[in-house]
Amino acid sequence: MSAVKDPAQKQDQTLVSLRNLNKHYGDFTAVDNISLDIKEGEFLTFLGSSGSGKSTTLSMLAGFETPSSGEILVDGRSLVNVPPHKRDIGMVFQRYSLFPHLSVRDNIAFPLDIRKVDPKERERRVDAMLKLVQLDSFAHRRPSQLSGGQQQRVAIARALVYEPRILLMDEPLGALDKKLREDLQDELRQLHRRLGITIVYVTHDQEEAMRLSQRIAIFSHGRIVGLGSGYDLYQNPPNAFVASFLGNSNFLRLQASGNGAATFEGHDLSIRLTAGIASGQSLMLMVRPEKAQALSTQQAEQLPLAAGWNQVPAKVTEVLFLGESQTCSVVTQGGTAMTVKALSSTGMPLAAGDTVLVRWAATDACVYTEWNESDLGKPSAHP
Ligand code: ADP
Ligand code: MG
Repeated sequence: MSAVKDPAQKQDQTLVSLRNLNKHYGDFTAVDNISLDIKEGEFLTFLGSSGSGKSTTLSMLAGFETPSSGEILVDGRSLVNVPPHKRDIGMVFQRYSLFPHLSVRDNIAFPLDIRKVDPKERERRVDAMLKLVQLDSFAHRRPSQLSGGQQQRVAIARALVYEPRILLMDEPLGALDKKLREDLQDELRQLHRRLGITIVYVTHDQEEAMRLSQRIAIFSHGRIVGLGSGYDLYQNPPNAFVASFLGNSNFLRLQASGNGAATFEGHDLSIRLTAGIASGQSLMLMVRPEKAQALSTQQAEQLPLAAGWNQVPAKVTEVLFLGESQTCSVVTQGGTAMTVKALSSTGMPLAAGDTVLVRWAATDACVYTEWNESDLGKPSAHP
């Protein structure tokens, strides 16, 4: 592997550009006009439900699928007519696709053999890779003599051995159990740091995306509907779909009564200033369960509502103890269900049937002027 590169040197330089990329299968649009710049050295994840177009987009980048239209540029040069093995791209799939009759060493060496790399250089690189994925002592085993996690490490070593600039990974940990998956996620993050390589990773698992990536592109119906760091996408989702896809959210239907003011089920609220709101307009408010508080009437009397905060009355339907945290489900007078989450250490001395006031700070809630009703429910990873 080439020398460790200085990550600061190349920050923010675009390596790959997808421009108006489309893929149609007959009448069906699998990838719908995607444009995206991938930065040199970044770890970017495509996150979305099954069927949202992640693998198709990755396959076009790898060269296994031809775009129906649009461009793929690397360093400003078009890749569309470059065959997969000339793209300087490594690929790892969910199924390890190792050669069963070859040893670990020969599996890793395979890409060098087909590129006719000099035997001495070949041995040097394979040794370095075996060390990198910590399989030195397994070099002579066959894939069937390895655990799933070890096999996937061989697949990663095989993809990295010819030193590609870009590594594509399509749900590479999907077949592994949770503990092993988390170990390999940590390894992958460290590997990325050490090598400074550009990684484009596909998963339907939001926690995995959060753990691994510097940026996440959220896919829905062949489009990218959110792009940013996990932190920004979670704290400030650009739309209701991203809000409900990443984490849990409470959605409240409001009526604007001026900029910075609205009503919810007849209660006056203050909201974030949002461009282009007309009085009387319908709005959707989103507040995360951990940003909301549920106070008993007694507690509320002792704690006057701070400026910039809102409160609405509700009735507790269920309190759940989850170890580290507790959730309290409530329903408002108008029938809106909400969930409030608190750390167990803070305590939520409430029970089903209690009357509460649900409070949140206006600055902690997002306001949307447009949404699809279907975006408000929790989409499942595998519909
Ligand atoms: P993801 O990886 O996000 O689960 P894919 O990119 O594999 O989704 O697929 C996106 C959509 O395109 C799916 O609805 C899938 O059925 C469809 N699709 C993928 N490949 C083909 C194909 N070869 N022919 C027809 N439809 C396809
Ligand atoms: Mg896929």
